[in-house]
Amino acid sequence: MTTETQPQTKDFQAETKQVLRLVIHSLYSHKEIFLRELISNASDACEKLRFEALSRPELLGADDLSVRLVPDSAGGTLSIKDNGIGMSEAEVIDNLGTIARSGTRKFLESMSGDSAKDAQLIGQFGVGFYSAFIVADKVTVLTKRTDSEAVRWESDGEGQYQIQAGDKADRGTEVILHLREEDKEFLEPSRLRQLVRKYSDHLSIPIILKADETEETVNQAKAFWTRPKSELKDEDYQAFFKHLSHDSEDARSWAHNKVEGNIEYTSLLYLPKRAPFDLYEREQKGGIQLYVKRVFIMDRAAELLPPYLRFMRGLVDTADLPLNVSRELLQNNRTVEKIKGALVKRSLELLEDLAANKPQEFAEFWKTFGVVLKEGIIEDPAQKERIAKLLRFHSTSESGDAATVSLEQYVSRMQAEQKAVYFLTADTLAAARNSPHLEAFRAKGMEVLLLIDRIDEWVAGHLQEFEGKSLANVASSAADVASAIETPEKAAAESAFKETAERLAKVLSGKIASAQVSARLTDSPAVLVAGEFGVSLRMGRILKQAGQSNPFATLPILELNPKHPLVERLRDAADEGSFADLAHVLYDQAMLAEGGELDDPAIFVRRVNRLIVEGLAAQQSKIILT
Ligand code: ADP
Ligand code: MG
Repeated sequence: MTTETQPQTKDFQAETKQVLRLVIHSLYSHKEIFLRELISNASDACEKLRFEALSRPELLGADDLSVRLVPDSAGGTLSIKDNGIGMSEAEVIDNLGTIARSGTRKFLESMSGDSAKDAQLIGQFGVGFYSAFIVADKVTVLTKRTDSEAVRWESDGEGQYQIQAGDKADRGTEVILHLREEDKEFLEPSRLRQLVRKYSDHLSIPIILKADETEETVNQAKAFWTRPKSELKDEDYQAFFKHLSHDSEDARSWAHNKVEGNIEYTSLLYLPKRAPFDLYEREQKGGIQLYVKRVFIMDRAAELLPPYLRFMRGLVDTADLPLNVSRELLQNNRTVEKIKGALVKRSLELLEDLAANKPQEFAEFWKTFGVVLKEGIIEDPAQKERIAKLLRFHSTSESGDAATVSLEQYVSRMQAEQKAVYFLTADTLAAARNSPHLEAFRAKGMEVLLLIDRIDEWVAGHLQEFEGKSLANVASSAADVASAIETPEKAAAESAFKETAERLAKVLSGKIASAQVSARLTDSPAVLVAGEFGVSLRMGRILKQAGQSNPFATLPILELNPKHPLVERLRDAADEGSFADLAHVLYDQAMLAEGGELDDPAIFVRRVNRLIVEGLAAQQSKIILT
């Protein structure tokens, strides 16, 4: 052992310093969490060793894996000692001196200044070790990996640390906290016992408190999910959820199942209340841990739940996979497929139960995770029907900000002669509510669902129908829409506007496929409608913004309100110049109402101004004449 080497002094990485400062200051009123963090690291280290021992059983040795808490009143130190995997010198520098995780920046951004909230964030972003400095003015770490030399690391948390060869013969890590004067309460066995029960009861590794030369195991030391349901209280499930997910809030609900038979496994699934910061990243792998016979195998096993359920948290423990299972092996594995199928059903059951029995809670769930669940309509044809029943929409029949209307509700209040489920897509709720496409439906008192998420275009496209009723976009020329709003006046107006429609098609050629009289409008002069089989205008825009080509691009149809004065004026315009001005203005206005962009906004403004001036002049001459 080379204990005589000179210590090397190194600076913490810049970001690390910032995190350290924030951690110490913001968590001052929640000091006790340091113990939870350090015990959790020690327990992780034991799990990692257990995993490594799968291929090298000689690593385990005679001692059982454990975490020991050793308070020393005389020295004023508290040690957290494990016989887990330990760290090499490079690992110490990497893990304790830098923050290599991409989550760190997000952590810094999410700090709210509210110490209660920030205290909860700390575990979520993996800055747990630094919480040691909340109660210690010096931290010494002695650590040894089986195949490398022992290392001693020491810091006062002020920006630098010292590292040198350490004096430690056995494998594992000892974190020695030199407690501040005012934090000596953490030397008292009764206080430590209380904290372990509060935060670490569910860890499967025994946590042993050494006080007055006696040793006692303070926690249950049994994998939480292996305990019978009847023995577990709601508080126990919530405490385990917080440990598992690093979430500060309670879970909304959970399902704990032990399955025996063809495949044997235990699953514990939680529906959280709060979204993790990376929820909207599609590559996010989800939150299900995999255990094989109690041994932790991997975090975020993407193969166990499809992406549209990535907000679920939990674990699966099975005896039917080999202990050396790899990510590659999980893919296309029949056992995994079966477990996944069962987990999907359980997750949907949790949601169905919430929707049926706690609608208020379901509404909150929908607000947080609805956009993600919707992906299931596209991704999982087998569960399409079930997911469709869980969807919630804004609608013309509800005025609130929350999306609350289900398809079942919509269908139950459809009008007798109504054929389809009508919907409109728009970028915002305000744009949807003010859309000219709704005018005729409003006049007929027919409900229209308002879809305002980007993904809704795809969702509607994949859903196609619900309980035998087709879904129809009111901004299209689909037959279902035309028949719903057909009026006798329309046929009469058609011949009166035949010539106008032909002139329009010529003037706006390249922009519209054709022009025709509309039955959709009561107030607006004109509206753009997607062809029956064309992609909606909004979908075309989304594809364009995403830089994708749109193989289904078709030109829209310009529909005219025959009763509108501007349209009458268009019909009567003899002069080709003023006809063209008015035609372009009507087209551009309709484009704006769709949420679209104008090719040349400056020309639009000039044309509108010309029309206003003409109108004013006409008024003036009327005044002079009378
Ligand atoms: P996290 O636990 O979220 O990764 P921490 O700040 O708590 O973040 O710990 C940083 C890293 O330091 C851990 O990921 C681990 O690699 C290492 N580490 C901390 N404590 C121990 C320990 N007792 N034994 C082995 N490695 C440890
Ligand atoms: Mg940690």
